[in-house]
Amino acid sequence: MTLDEAWRILQLNQFKRTKNREMILAFFAQNDRYLTAGEVRNYMEVDNPGISFDTIYRNLATFTELGILEETELTGERHFRMHCEAGVHHHHFICTRCGKTKSIPDCPMDLITIHLPGYKVAGHKFEVYDKCPNCLVG
Ligand SMILES: [Zn+2]
Ligand SMILES: [Zn+2]
Ligand SMILES: [Zn+2]
Repeated sequence: MTLDEAWRILQLNQFKRTKNREMILAFFAQNDRYLTAGEVRNYMEVDNPGISFDTIYRNLATFTELGILEETELTGERHFRMHCEAGVHHHHFICTRCGKTKSIPDCPMDLITIHLPGYKVAGHKFEVYDKCPNCLVG
């Protein structure tokens, strides 16, 4: 998702363009990987000392609800990243050390629905975790 798309979604949902929201979204746009709220706060604090976790979490929750960010839990902590471009359905490998993702074009649901005859399935989540090649070397 681009910053322009993110702002369009926020505007459509009557959210104002605040400095905090601008900074948080810019940070995600610059980092193509999963980030923790702590990392967002460290970045925000440079220009905005004393910004509360509450403010950051509230904005992260808003962005996630609107589909601007996607959220996952890695090593017991919530992580966020900019939502992928709308397009072809895919899944992610997520590196638990650096937070980078690799997209996987195949979907396991074709195999799984065999086991669900007569069930209605609205959606699914599928993520693969461990270390990326870079982190295995490091
Ligand atoms: Zn993706
Ligand atoms: Zn990695
Ligand atoms: Zn799928």
